[in-house]
Amino acid sequence: MNAKYDFLIVGAGLYGAVFAHEVKKAGKTCLIIDKRSHIAGNIFTKKMEDIQVHQYGAHIFHTNNKEVWEYVNQFAEFNRYTNSPVANYQGEIYNLPFNMNTFNKMWGVVTPDEAKKKIEQQRRANYVEHPQNLEEQAINLVGIDIYEKLIRGYTEKQWGRPCNELPAFIIRRLPVRFTYDNNYFNAKYQGIPIGGYTAMVERMIEGIEVKLNTDYLVEKSKWDSIADKVVYTGPVDAYFDYKLGVLQYRSLRFETEVLNIPNFQGNAVVNYTDRETPYTRIIEHKHFEFGTQPKTVISREYSAEWKLGDEPYYPVNDKLNSALYQKYKALTETEHNVIFGGRLGEYKYYDMDNVVEFALQKVRDVLGNM
Ligand code: UDP
Repeated sequence: MNAKYDFLIVGAGLYGAVFAHEVKKAGKTCLIIDKRSHIAGNIFTKKMEDIQVHQYGAHIFHTNNKEVWEYVNQFAEFNRYTNSPVANYQGEIYNLPFNMNTFNKMWGVVTPDEAKKKIEQQRRANYVEHPQNLEEQAINLVGIDIYEKLIRGYTEKQWGRPCNELPAFIIRRLPVRFTYDNNYFNAKYQGIPIGGYTAMVERMIEGIEVKLNTDYLVEKSKWDSIADKVVYTGPVDAYFDYKLGVLQYRSLRFETEVLNIPNFQGNAVVNYTDRETPYTRIIEHKHFEFGTQPKTVISREYSAEWKLGDEPYYPVNDKLNSALYQKYKALTETEHNVIFGGRLGEYKYYDMDNVVEFALQKVRDVLGNM
């Protein structure tokens, strides 16, 4: 083959950027295209009032994987931000994730033993040996009071479905701890790139040609002809023209506002866990970087039902969608020159560190076979 590029990378998000960086380092040529008007996919950040605003929702890098941590640190210096969101339930404030501070506020218990007894009591009343859904799993983990005040409303708003129709694993993303530790993640390494994620991605793809506002699927065969291999990080069902059906997503909508005060809520993330408040959380961006600017920027985050044409954010990992994805996955295996990757390309609820890890694995694999 004598195509112009060794690789065409569709999507300038984290997966595409890592892949492109490695390809270039190995002496291969590549072109990145993205249908949006900017790079960095959903980790895109942009300055407003001298504050880095996370345009597609809060992103906090966290990982246990030392290699991944060292990898991203090549492209940015990370600050010491530790995610410790608070939950606001009808004006009552609780610490997250579920820990001794939460249990103390909820029940007045002081020692881990007292907290365990309280949860055990509530669990016994509702115990299910093999939790089949998020509701059963949540009650097993933390009891009914926490489920009712801090989980049920938030989760149903976020996913637009009752908790007993959602998979148990979603709630197992959150730690339950019997220490007074408000760190949301059980990760060894955590932080936010100083200067924003966009600058980090810019550094990853330095020296690589990028075409923005370019929709691969509109002229697929033209783009396919210019490269030997394609790395596709868009929605997998869109690639196949939805021929087996449409995979569902949850979408998000943000209302961003500049306020003429220095501090609106005293924390980067406040979750509104009751069902009545229409948004799921408010992000105050300056607190991700310990900002002292005179103004502040906040984003109210609304979860939204997704329909074709909306921005996809979260794959819906229920049985129906998982089964449909498996069928698409079988199709991807027949596309020998195309690599499908990332949250959309693999229809997986990946965190950023997973994306980096899997992109690195894949690109090494592919380069090794060239
Ligand atoms: N969750 C909850 N209450 C909260 C925060 C999270 O019930 O205050 C549940 C909810 O079901 C959510 C899941 O935990 O979907 C995972 O939350 P996470 O913060 O990991 O979601 P992400 O940051 O990926 O949106």
